[in-house]
Amino acid sequence: MRLEINRVEMPLRNVFRISRGEISVQETVIVQLYDNGESGLGEATQSSYYTHSADSIIDSLKQLEQELREWEFTTPEALWEVAEERLANDYFALSALDQAAHDLYGKRHRTSVFERKGMNWHNVPQSSITVSIASIPQMIEELQGFAGWPIIKVKLGTSDDLAIIQALRDSSDAVIRVDANCAWTVEETIRNSIEFASLGVEFIEQPLPADAPVASKRVVFEESALPIIADESCQREDDVRECDGLFHGINIKLCKCGGLTPAFRMLDEANSRGLKTMVGCMIESEVAISAAAQLAPRLDYVDLDGAALLARQPAQGVKVQHGKISRPSGFGCGVTLNTTLV
Ligand SMILES: [Mg+2]
Repeated sequence: MRLEINRVEMPLRNVFRISRGEISVQETVIVQLYDNGESGLGEATQSSYYTHSADSIIDSLKQLEQELREWEFTTPEALWEVAEERLANDYFALSALDQAAHDLYGKRHRTSVFERKGMNWHNVPQSSITVSIASIPQMIEELQGFAGWPIIKVKLGTSDDLAIIQALRDSSDAVIRVDANCAWTVEETIRNSIEFASLGVEFIEQPLPADAPVASKRVVFEESALPIIADESCQREDDVRECDGLFHGINIKLCKCGGLTPAFRMLDEANSRGLKTMVGCMIESEVAISAAAQLAPRLDYVDLDGAALLARQPAQGVKVQHGKISRPSGFGCGVTLNTTLV
């Protein structure tokens, strides 16, 4: 096997703000895994919250590059087991490699990932699109720019959260979901859940900090008027068990859990525990979006708007337009690189 590593800067359509900060250009790392005349694509994007920079992801992958040349590629799952031992401290890098391995395997065996996993492209949930934090008039303007999207996810964690949702509710009939990105207290969460339930909000994502006491999470789980979905609190496979009884569902992201290989196992675990399932994304190109979309037929909720937030990007794959997720075309993850990387 041979790995090619590319660093790419992707400009955003609009400045993106959440409770922790803002960005206007997203740095990402795109890898190509070559074996016997085929290649597969994978991606991991920079994230300050998860303390992975493009540089650190590239460094992790470079440490594996030489060894990888000696390995024989059989399945993505077999590669994941070996690679995980080397990349235990960098699941973002592991995720990029695992996506590429799934893409490569599908191309070699002339199947898409979702078909290999026994799924049909039926009853695929629609994706939300994200309105980021700004002044209320700016948020309304951004929302109006998303006319035609059936589901809106609103980033919260301000002193104006209730006024924001009231204003957005008055401006749109779309389904509203909210994501507090760890910014609320127990009391705020319960109070907001009651107000938001009356405004038709569907669920609340990650109200409390990931390291909030278990007792606090349990109070929120039991007293919230809306379902609570874990994002920052559900990163890796073992976290699914921990979320049972503290959250109503989990938001799986490939970069957090280390790729599609563990993501499919997390879905099994969540289904067996009766937890709702969702796939989310970072701001990333259609490389990572096409990989994450392979999970979509099995999910309750989808949030794969990452590439839709970009002004331009380096690949063509699964499209998410007005919430509709296009069926992956071609084999593997169904994505190809543009001739120029942005
Ligand atoms: Mg989130």
